[in-house]
Amino acid sequence: MPDDRLRTVMQRILNAADAAERPAPALLAVSKTQPAEAVAALAAAGQRAFGENYVQEAAAKREALAGTCPELQWHLIGHLQSNKAALAAEVFDWVQSVDRPSVVDALARHRAAARAPLNVLIQVNVEGESGKAGCRPDELDALAARVAAQPRLALRGLMSIPVPHPAPEQRRPAFRRMRQLFDELAARHPGVDTLSMGMSDDFPVAIAEGATLVRIGTALFGPRAG
Ligand SMILES: *Cc1c(COP(=O)(O)O)cnc(C)c1O
Repeated sequence: MPDDRLRTVMQRILNAADAAERPAPALLAVSKTQPAEAVAALAAAGQRAFGENYVQEAAAKREALAGTCPELQWHLIGHLQSNKAALAAEVFDWVQSVDRPSVVDALARHRAAARAPLNVLIQVNVEGESGKAGCRPDELDALAARVAAQPRLALRGLMSIPVPHPAPEQRRPAFRRMRQLFDELAARHPGVDTLSMGMSDDFPVAIAEGATLVRIGTALFGPRAG
């Protein structure tokens, strides 16, 4: 039952936060590959924020659920190609995968003036893994300033996907470094309040290191097909 899974995950989040003496982070339900009905079921159980990896897939689900669940909040967590930026600026409430200047400019250009500013997280490749999405830590300041200068965008913080070391404990140094970068950014930009890190198999470690939002798919929906 989606209800039971949601309750279990929420309890594990609270336990991890309590143990670390930190505030409980927000939960983003990662619904990629899941049908709109699965999103609706979780929404009926009280979940509001959903994460998707592909712009078109999210657009279709948002459209399908607009009548029954209009109050949902959609986050893009997958790599954003520049030619999808216009649609992304329309479909999403948050884009967590901003990692280069061209994407900042395209999202700002296409976010409608009538809408609230698009919430932006900058994705950081904190371990400098080659060929992976995310800006380098030394590119972060300039990119953050570029986002902050755009009235159609709201700079909210950082996102990271650490190298998937088999043992979650091995990911702790990357989470810790992200929290440092986040604290430095928040000291310079008043609206920064969100550090997105931690997935189904490592969220307790991410919470212990200071995540304010965890992105959880499998533990909520079960294994993805394909
Ligand atoms: C798929 C995905 C998740 C969720 O992963 P699970 O292991 O299913 O919890 C989180 N973040 C990103 C960026 C993803 O692509």
